[in-house]
Amino acid sequence: MTSDKPGAGSGEREAGSGKPGEGNLSRRDFLQVTAGAGALVSLGPAAAGPADQTPSPGFAAPGEPLSGWFDRPMRWVQLTLVENDPGRFDPQFWLDYFRRLHADAACLSAGGIVAYYPTDIPLHHRSAWLGTSDPFGTLFSGCRAQGMHVIARTDPHAVRDDVRAAHPDWIAVTRNGEPMRHWANHDLWVSCALGPYNFEFMNDVHREIASKYRVDGIFSNRWAPQGGDCFCVHCQENFKAATGQELPKTTDARDPARRKFIDWRKARLTELWKHWDATIRSVNPDARFIPNGPPDMKTAGEMASIQFADNQARHGATPAWANGRRAKEYRSVMGRRPIGGIFSVGLEEPYRWKDSVQSEAEVRMWVAEGTANGMRPWVTKFSGVLYDRRWLPIVERIYQWHYAHEPYLRNEQSLARVALLYSEQTMTVHSGVVAGDRTEDHVLGMYHALVEARVPFDMVHEAFLTPDRLDVYKLLILADAAALSDAQCAAIRDYVNRGGSLLATFATSLYDELGRRRDNFGLADLLGVSFAGSVDGPMQNSYLSLDADPATRARHPILAGFDDAPRIINGAFRVNVRPTMPFPSPLTLIPTYPDLPMEDVYPRVEHTETGEIFLRDLGRSRIVYIPWDIDRTFWEVMATDHGRLLKNAVAWAANERPRVEVTGPGVVDVTAWRQRNSMTVHLVNLTNPMMMKGPLREVIPIGPQRASIELPSGTRARKVHLLTTGSSPAVAETGGVLRVIVPSIDVHEVIAIDL
Ligand SMILES: [Zn+2]
Repeated sequence: MTSDKPGAGSGEREAGSGKPGEGNLSRRDFLQVTAGAGALVSLGPAAAGPADQTPSPGFAAPGEPLSGWFDRPMRWVQLTLVENDPGRFDPQFWLDYFRRLHADAACLSAGGIVAYYPTDIPLHHRSAWLGTSDPFGTLFSGCRAQGMHVIARTDPHAVRDDVRAAHPDWIAVTRNGEPMRHWANHDLWVSCALGPYNFEFMNDVHREIASKYRVDGIFSNRWAPQGGDCFCVHCQENFKAATGQELPKTTDARDPARRKFIDWRKARLTELWKHWDATIRSVNPDARFIPNGPPDMKTAGEMASIQFADNQARHGATPAWANGRRAKEYRSVMGRRPIGGIFSVGLEEPYRWKDSVQSEAEVRMWVAEGTANGMRPWVTKFSGVLYDRRWLPIVERIYQWHYAHEPYLRNEQSLARVALLYSEQTMTVHSGVVAGDRTEDHVLGMYHALVEARVPFDMVHEAFLTPDRLDVYKLLILADAAALSDAQCAAIRDYVNRGGSLLATFATSLYDELGRRRDNFGLADLLGVSFAGSVDGPMQNSYLSLDADPATRARHPILAGFDDAPRIINGAFRVNVRPTMPFPSPLTLIPTYPDLPMEDVYPRVEHTETGEIFLRDLGRSRIVYIPWDIDRTFWEVMATDHGRLLKNAVAWAANERPRVEVTGPGVVDVTAWRQRNSMTVHLVNLTNPMMMKGPLREVIPIGPQRASIELPSGTRARKVHLLTTGSSPAVAETGGVLRVIVPSIDVHEVIAIDL
């Protein structure tokens, strides 16, 4: 099977004038409303409550509204020069390529380790091949002539012997007191990121670049400490001045001294960001400093006008949806502010083949996941001289498709009604309830279950649990969100009181924001249980009994699809809890029994009254608490019964008809968006596991997919079309709900509805 070209023919679909994809509607394109589509259920009026309000059109950034140039670029390119590029690479080749891509912004190498322009700053190393040329200036002017935004790339993390000779204190120092050699190039030294090298020398470099070229911003790669913690004289003095203590040598994240160091490093990086940003703005008020990787996501949410997610490709067994997850994480702090999704065209493995070319299927899948989840594509290529050109037409097709459909890809407002909490602090301070329990595995399992269930969902960050951000969602999911502060618990409690629903698992809220275990869950009142003081596991050969209501003999809807199953497997760990109120009991514990010798494999206890799921129906809000590690075990084992139970739990807790439902074969990531004049439903075909080993070889189309899409209230569909195949699908509408059949998806299809 050969790969189909993405959006075959779509590059030729550009409108003659203005932006493609808008206008040009004719009578014959108007939606054909099929009479008698009686199978459609009309939506009743939404139940009352804040969680049912029409979502606000994206939340405003805390620091800065959507202004400036940042929201304009839709397609980014990055060319990172290598030192011997000047005089060898052809700038015009790249400018022509950028034009064919319809790229509207570029990130270009300027300075730091190597200067690619005639710098006047002593010790700022000009490329040995520079001569009298100015490759940065040439590319900068060429891009500007094509109407592109340009940001300059610097990389401050390494220096040469002359810098060390002149300023030995600029070099990072190991915990053994040795100056730090660069791990990959032994001719270089690692610079201290938190001392005068960055605060003074690189600040001068940034001022010079912003002054010589009116760039839109400066983007620094590897601007945070590299190669391990630094114990230089400046770091020692600055840490002591800030904390009164010596630099700790421990790397144990739970050690208070280490935590103090991490907080100090974060504060110092934030200070450096502000320092460079002020310098750049003093030259050009519209320009910004843009770090490659913020000190943490909360800081990005508080400070950034634009961010770029450096998540270049799948590697190893990384799931195909991983770039979509990164996009959701960035959106959880950035909201509507733009996020560039940096992708490479090579293999991203530990051996760092930076000049390699990846399979077309990998590149397309990675970019599609980013685009479907709210990123704007940013292709990055190292070396102006190409050794392998196979990627060029692949990226060109992706970008031309993106350009042709740009008005539909602005993703101005997510229409998701489900949100998964992104708890950065739990990942940082909580090392699990027992050895082998990793919080991230809970999140990964829940994420995968939501993708498999085809639930459009966002992530919300723990630092921004405000009504404007939370109340657009009907359901908030806490996948082992173990470390929550009292204030965060209160914000979640308020959300439930306003009508929001909750699905929580395992050790959620059992720890505070510093990772200290509480005596009881911070959310005990909502969950309806209290902590009984222990965690069981790993459990061998334990099960869950699926029980009917003793009075009615009926099974709870949470058990839908399990009709012929009396029991299913348990997870591996369970938190012992005591219910503090009466609960229905559809799922009860069958304790571990011997799994060997085979003669002994029979349950010693056939049935218990120990509830393993706690369901509260508060009217507008519903709360589900699952005290065992259903999400973590799902990530490890991928048992379909656990996936189905999670799907049912989401549906029951949300307690509303989904805005978007898509049925059909395969694994599909579904996202839904609103633009000014359109609604879009993205379908990314993830059904391509290469026999579960990971790498993607070919595109295997799937179909047909049947979508049921609730139109935003007060709107009607003027036209429905499929962006990739370029066709108009069969559509029926009843009561504001469209039913659309998508015949086939190769990698990425978008159902675009003109409103
Ligand atoms: Zn240092």
